[in-house]
Amino acid sequence: MFDSIKKIFSGNEGDLPVSTVGKPDISREKSAELYEKAKTYFPGGVNSPVRAFKSVYGTPLFIKKGDGCHIWDEDDNQFIDFCCSWGPLILGHNHTKVRESVIETMQSGVSFGAPTALENELAELILKNNKYVEKLRFVSSGTEAVMSAIRVARGYTKRDKIIKFEGCYHGHTDALLVKAGSGLVTFGETSSAGVPKGFVNETIVISLNDREALKTAFAEFKDQIAAVIIEPIPANNGLLLQDKEYLQFLRDICTQNGTLLIFDEVISGFRIGFEGAAGYYQIKPDMVTYGKIIGGGLPVGCYGASKEIMAHVSPDGGVYQGGTLSGNPVAMSAGIAQLTELARMGFYRDLNGKTEEFVQSIQRFATARNYKFKVFYIGSIFWFAFTDQEAVRKAEEIDPASMEKFKVMHRELLNRGVYLGPSGYEVGFISSAHNKVELEKAKRAIFESLDVVFGK
Ligand SMILES: *Cc1c(COP(=O)(O)O)cnc(C)c1O
Repeated sequence: MFDSIKKIFSGNEGDLPVSTVGKPDISREKSAELYEKAKTYFPGGVNSPVRAFKSVYGTPLFIKKGDGCHIWDEDDNQFIDFCCSWGPLILGHNHTKVRESVIETMQSGVSFGAPTALENELAELILKNNKYVEKLRFVSSGTEAVMSAIRVARGYTKRDKIIKFEGCYHGHTDALLVKAGSGLVTFGETSSAGVPKGFVNETIVISLNDREALKTAFAEFKDQIAAVIIEPIPANNGLLLQDKEYLQFLRDICTQNGTLLIFDEVISGFRIGFEGAAGYYQIKPDMVTYGKIIGGGLPVGCYGASKEIMAHVSPDGGVYQGGTLSGNPVAMSAGIAQLTELARMGFYRDLNGKTEEFVQSIQRFATARNYKFKVFYIGSIFWFAFTDQEAVRKAEEIDPASMEKFKVMHRELLNRGVYLGPSGYEVGFISSAHNKVELEKAKRAIFESLDVVFGK
């Protein structure tokens, strides 16, 4: 049985045994102090569980500054950052245009609860450059975008059931905090305390890349499935790249059954290209959700669809959804500044080319030394996997034992000035601010760390 919520292990907190193999540990004195305090204020000392260092060594680093591809912690350690706030910062930290646009907007007040021209501007920028959506609604997080899209899909189809895939993360909305039971097609079992069984009774969970399971689900629940939701580029549980043919199969089976296909592009939107995974695979979903990059580092989520589907959203239609700070002007201006850069000719070509070079040279190094290590990647997303499989397409194919190796790698990388998200199930991101010189430095740190991991 596999757990599709963010995997957090409960290692020993603050556990940092003296390393006998690698580099001496960097100082975490101030971070450790702040963490002790934070634990008295917040559960686990954090405001989102993935920030805790439960799956890696030591206490979480408290960050005080970011600039370009670098971050600095409270102990003044400098890192090349491949977490990039978990994806939003595709232009790197403290980008001049984003910063200046936010400051300028703030001079005129931060929120009105009434429409502003900035909402039109961000919507126009998106809709003019993305043929997969016709109308949008801005919200304040990816979770909210997904939760709302599902409601719209149910309202539109007048059906209740949804299908989700094991290994795809869609935020922390109740109906999606589910894990697969044993069997080909199962109703979700709640994967979080506090989610009533009844709230997930309408959620069917199946494996990725399994056509039979999909066919069975549609046969078993004919005319009852409102939507199938998928991360078209699953990047929250490793990087589980799917075949285009499989995604096309998904598209077709949804069309045949009058079911809406929802692409959750909170990570892949504006990351793989301006049109996200839909554009990359040239597959048109019925609804799309965005988040992360769309807000330039401020809290913005968004869902979109055809005019016909969006006509069901209130106040035009009967599906209620609102938000006090939705379309917040400061957040909109950050999104506008960031997406304007992304819409420039050649932006993605350069970024993706740089990523390809980076990951391929790491792969060559590991392969030459016979290390059981693969770098999976797409666009500017990469995932370090301690495996020798050619492809990993399902959550169930990841060996939990391989995470022990990641744990060592994470520590060695921190000690060499490279910051990765603190879990081997998380992907890394490259931003336009990661220049050649810094990527070379990062590569050397990665080579050395791999040597430590594999005992060379
Ligand atoms: C991050 C993420 C979410 C949740 O977004 P939040 O802004 O953290 O609520 C949902 N879906 C996907 C695919 C994500 O990557």
